[in-house]
Amino acid sequence: MEPTIALLGPPGSGKGTQAARLEDELGYTALSTGQLLRQARADGTELGEQAAGYMDRGELVPDGLVVDALYDRMQELEGPVLLDGFPRTVSQAEALEARGRKLGAALLIDVPDAVVVERISGRGREDDQPETVRERLRVYHRDTEPLVAYYGERGLLRRVDGSGDPDAVHERLREALAG
Ligand code: AMP
Repeated sequence: MEPTIALLGPPGSGKGTQAARLEDELGYTALSTGQLLRQARADGTELGEQAAGYMDRGELVPDGLVVDALYDRMQELEGPVLLDGFPRTVSQAEALEARGRKLGAALLIDVPDAVVVERISGRGREDDQPETVRERLRVYHRDTEPLVAYYGERGLLRRVDGSGDPDAVHERLREALAG
């Protein structure tokens, strides 16, 4: 099976932007759980209804819901997959492995909190209200950051400086993927 790559980073670190570019240039299929959930809401599916409250509060959607939805979508894909915004918890990482998806690398886009807040305030997405952004950052540090140690211990973590313009970050990601 083709290696799966995960893109980790706080909200506003540019995961979506960077995933789209890696998809275009390196032939990955990018799969964003945030996008998948927003689409489910727009379609009015049961998943979308179940996820809405969590998303609007800046909380994580429960692991079971996200893992099932992601896995269903992954089954439909061929070729190398780039996960954008998944896993967000150690238990999601374990669920991915339990379902036979081994990661080739976890790329962390490293951006300080102050930069996150500044960047997100210009984005205009529904869950980008200042209160919600603060909550998403808190949740990131509490629930998602433990993945840095998790993948570090497994020799899969590659940390990339996420500051500066998107072109510069893209180049660093390409180097990290090649290395
Ligand atoms: P994102 O587009 O990655 O910023 O995600 C937007 C929102 O979707 C997050 O704030 C969460 O509420 C939810 N979400 C996205 N991915 C996950 C995930 N892997 N686990 C739990 N919730 C998620």
